[in-house]
Amino acid sequence: VRYWCEQAWLGGPEPEPGVLLEVEGDRITAVTPGAPPEGERLPGLTLPGLANAHSHAFQRALRGRTHAGTGTFWTWREQMYELAATLDAERYRPLARAAFAEMLLAGITVVGEFHYVHGEGMEEAVLAAAAEAGIRITLLDTCYLHGGLERFRDASAEAWAERTATLMQKGSDPFCTRDGATARIGAAAHSVRAVGPEALRVVADVARERSWPLHAHVSEQPAENDEARERHGATPTELLDRAGALDDRFTAVHATHLTPSDVALLGHARVCLCPTTERDLADGIGPARALRDAGASLALGSDSQAVIDLFEEARAVELDERLASGERGRHAPEDLLSAATAGGYDSLGWPEGGRLRAGALADFTTIALDSVRLAGTDNAVPAAVFAAAAPDVRHVVVGGRVVVRDGAHVELDVPRELAEAIPR
Ligand SMILES: [Zn+2]
Repeated sequence: VRYWCEQAWLGGPEPEPGVLLEVEGDRITAVTPGAPPEGERLPGLTLPGLANAHSHAFQRALRGRTHAGTGTFWTWREQMYELAATLDAERYRPLARAAFAEMLLAGITVVGEFHYVHGEGMEEAVLAAAAEAGIRITLLDTCYLHGGLERFRDASAEAWAERTATLMQKGSDPFCTRDGATARIGAAAHSVRAVGPEALRVVADVARERSWPLHAHVSEQPAENDEARERHGATPTELLDRAGALDDRFTAVHATHLTPSDVALLGHARVCLCPTTERDLADGIGPARALRDAGASLALGSDSQAVIDLFEEARAVELDERLASGERGRHAPEDLLSAATAGGYDSLGWPEGGRLRAGALADFTTIALDSVRLAGTDNAVPAAVFAAAAPDVRHVVVGGRVVVRDGAHVELDVPRELAEAIPR
């Protein structure tokens, strides 16, 4: 299949005009800039598929219900627990499918589902929901030992390892890691609050043995740091370092409140920022530029689904940091786009995705350049980062398959699915 992109972003500060993408099966086989039009035409700017590296799909049901309230992260968490307590597999599957379909409409082609709402059939429900929506997924099955609701908890890190091993075996259709599959399994430790130092080491060892990505919430709130210092005499990042977790398969989610030595340690790892959630929950502004300077690779996530728009997440990294630093231009637009694409794919264990190049996964997203937000631009790369929004997404391909055409999901009536699933 041949797609001719009016413009495509191949990694630089400016887009390339007239780029021919040749696709066979789920892979891009050739990328030719400056090609004459042929095949299916994609007007606008084509990007590698956007990667949502941190999602809790069920929290889509909180949108508009918790955002007007007062209080802190900790009072919001009680409302989130109330919702989590009501979910079963039968209700979760359509809710997750609708949330994933909303992500596709926003140009997101892979999601990292940080999954701790455990229970009979819940993991299968999430994987089936992703397959039905047509999104690529890494199910980051989360070890959660202390606090939270009982349903979140495994009895021990060993019990988590055993439970998730059977998830791999269930990995026949549609969610194994063979060629052409669109689902992979990964590991998560909820946080150093929920997983103590010994258990953290077990989780890190198991993830390494299985070559799984490993994610954890890290220093989202100052109280989490205070508690870690009090109980263990170390910051959350230091505890993860002691557990042997910090390498390029590890992603620290949030990483908002860090010491300079935490920043240096995370330079060996990845960081997923979720700015729209972090501002909604009054978490703070993470030191994104310092982390990049230390060597960390960035990814982005919609997390609590207050907003599902990776363009908004990308520009928020820069714009929030401008407010905090009093300086502009802390991140180049192409670096922010890289975080929204390749950075997320790498973080989720799909290093062959998030790039428009021969051999890469055929996951890509085209945005209109004739929308009211983008009409008249002379460089679509900064325009996309600083002005595009989810409704500009026209065309989305996942694994060589068209999932969104002319701004609509090819199979699902997404607003209707959301309207039905959320009240249930
Ligand atoms: Zn989270």
